[in-house]
Amino acid sequence: LEFFHCGFNDTVSANMSVVKYDMPTAVQMQVLPAGMMGRDVMAAAPTGSGKTAAFLLPVVLNVFRTVSSAIGGRDPRWTHPLALILAPTRELCMQVEDQAKQLMKGLPHMRTALLVGGLPLPPQVHRLQQGVQVLVATPGRLLDILHRKDVSLECVEVLVVDELDTMLHLGFREQVLEIIDSLPSQRQTMMFSATIPQPIETLASSILNNPVYVLV
Ligand code: AMP
Repeated sequence: LEFFHCGFNDTVSANMSVVKYDMPTAVQMQVLPAGMMGRDVMAAAPTGSGKTAAFLLPVVLNVFRTVSSAIGGRDPRWTHPLALILAPTRELCMQVEDQAKQLMKGLPHMRTALLVGGLPLPPQVHRLQQGVQVLVATPGRLLDILHRKDVSLECVEVLVVDELDTMLHLGFREQVLEIIDSLPSQRQTMMFSATIPQPIETLASSILNNPVYVLV
C-alpha cells in the first residue's frame, strides 16, 4: 500500500510530501482505511509508530468533507468543533496540534484550538469564539471550559483518545468518561494506547462501536 492509493485530497497529499511522508507505517496501513471509512478503531501503537498521522489523516479528511458540504448547504455546523482529540499532556497536545496544522495547511475553514492546562484560559476561550473545527485538548482543561459553557461539543463527529494507557495512569479515567458522555452518541471514535491490557480492552469495548482492532 502507498499513500497514493488512499485517495487523499490533493492539498493534504502535497502537505504530506512536504513533511516527507512517502510510505505509510505499519500502524497507518491498518488504521487509515478503517478510519477513513468512519469505523471505530482501537489501536496498540507506541510513540514513534506514526500513530499521530494515523488518526490525524482520517480526522482531517473526514472533517473537511463535512465542512465542505456544510458550507455549500448553508449548514451552520461547520462553525462548531467537529473533531475532538484528547491527549494526556500539554506537550503531547502541542505536538499533535503542530502535526494537524502541517497536514491541514491550505484547506479552507479548517482551524485548530489547543485547550491545555498550564497556559492562560482567556486566549483559549477567545480562539474558540472564532469558529474552530478541530480541538486538541487535555481532559482537565477541556472540562473547565465545558463547565463554563465556553464550548459546545454537540457537533463533534469524531473523537480520538491518544495514549489511553497514560490517561489512566495519570488518573484521568473519570474525566475522559465525563467528556465522552457529553458527546453525540452518533460519532466515530478512535483510541490509541501503547499496549492494550485487559482493563483497557474492557473500557474500550464499553465505548467503541464494532471497532477495528489494530495490533502491530
Ligand atoms: P508518532 O508515532 O506519531 O509520534 O510519529 C513519529 C514520527 O514519525 C513523527 O515525527 C512523524 O512526523 C513521523 N512520521 C509519521 N508518519 C510517517 C510516514 N509515513 N513517513 C515518515 N515519517 C512519518
